[in-house]
Amino acid sequence: MIALYDTLTKSKQKVSTDKRLTLYTCGPTVYLDPHIGNWRTFIFYDTLVRVLKLSGADVTHVLNITDVGHLVSDGDTGDDKMSKTAQSQRKTAWEVAEYYTAQFIKEMSELNLLTPNKLPKATDHINQQIEMIQAIEERGFSYKLEDGIYFDTAQLPDYGKLAGGVKADEKFARINKNDQKRNPEDFALWKFSPKGEKRDMEWESPWGLGFPGWHIECSAMAKEYLGDTIDIHAGGVDHIPVHHTNEIAQSETANGQPFAKLWLHAEFMKVDGAKMSKSKENFFTLADIKAHKFTALDFRYLVLQGHYRTETNFTWDILQHAANSLANLRHAYEKVFVATDEPKDQTAEIVSLQGKFMEALQNDLNTPAALSVVSAVASIGANGLANASRQSYIEFFQYVDKALGLKIAESASDITEEQKTLITERNLAKKSNDFELADKIRNDLLSDGIELLDGPNGTTWQRKS
Ligand code: AMP
Ligand code: ZN
Repeated sequence: MIALYDTLTKSKQKVSTDKRLTLYTCGPTVYLDPHIGNWRTFIFYDTLVRVLKLSGADVTHVLNITDVGHLVSDGDTGDDKMSKTAQSQRKTAWEVAEYYTAQFIKEMSELNLLTPNKLPKATDHINQQIEMIQAIEERGFSYKLEDGIYFDTAQLPDYGKLAGGVKADEKFARINKNDQKRNPEDFALWKFSPKGEKRDMEWESPWGLGFPGWHIECSAMAKEYLGDTIDIHAGGVDHIPVHHTNEIAQSETANGQPFAKLWLHAEFMKVDGAKMSKSKENFFTLADIKAHKFTALDFRYLVLQGHYRTETNFTWDILQHAANSLANLRHAYEKVFVATDEPKDQTAEIVSLQGKFMEALQNDLNTPAALSVVSAVASIGANGLANASRQSYIEFFQYVDKALGLKIAESASDITEEQKTLITERNLAKKSNDFELADKIRNDLLSDGIELLDGPNGTTWQRKS
């Protein structure tokens, strides 16, 4: 069982995890490298999948790739984002999509995001989108304008329910420039190719040559892979008033079934307290993070330090702090490999903290609380562990890696069995007052790059850089 905050009912809902769960998450528009705000949302998806799986659920995760139809403005005006990059880079829209999809997959793996079960591309599902528009048309919920086929939102009494029943969002009405629409919130299902203009991406349809509106791809691909009703649908908060609202309108009209049982949304990431924007030059990518000599996992740690439903702030200082904390955890983990003569067995305490760790995550993915449990366990190990506690300590960090993907145990550098034996021999030499031998072993290890630290609970080691 796990509790998750549902945007639709504005309450935490219990989800049982002893069964198959279907999850649809809105993926990247592949016209540029994702910025760190996008990654915050994708890391949230990954944490959700990991925690559901660790809780026993058989998760089928679909993350779509938007490679067509996402116009620059949410009001169905402006250029297609793909075409815009294509023009500026003197490439075709297909080349742009291929390049940034590959980039996205490469960076997903650097951030240690699990590969979703499906990564469907909008352009591979044009027929499914056309079929869904036809179903909407058959039910009488669409109308035709000069530039495309539109969804008639006025016919849907509960249109806008996700955003709390606000129908014509003021801001949205302002950016809408198509005066012919019956209502400002009506949206394009299919756009016609402008006359006399050859587009890289355009398809024949029952309504004429053109391309799909942005929202229809998610409705069509969710149905294709997960059926009419999905268990969980997730995205960033910006999707609540327009994109997800319109997905609900399309799917529920075409399928006659509720679309998603649960709606989850991640809050935005800001940079230096300000909204990210290209003009402010605060539009950082993973490449920028690496250029500053941080790792993708340092950034992942920064993201997990905040709860997904709270706005989070990025600064280079905060990232440095996150990198230090992650390094400290790895170091605390590495120390475990040294035998000590500290007698107290802390297994029960570690096992109990592991329960608390998972409890925090199962309570609406409370990653900051979970990380403070990790620190508590690391401080148990910081001074060296009793032999009897070692196994539970190792298992704890392996479990943390499965849940949070931080590679604490996975990337820890171990010392060789021979070096471990030498440390034990030195402990024995010290006990029997053979300080000459003890010093010799210490110096031999030092020349191997291993420094021994004698503490109140025994001896630990660290790698000398
Ligand atoms: P896009 O590529 O624009 O479709 O966005 C991909 C995902 O990133 C969507 O789920 C957005 O809601 C999310 N997103 C966009 N900007 C931010 C941000 N600043 N912080 C967090 N998530 C964001
Ligand atoms: Zn979507």
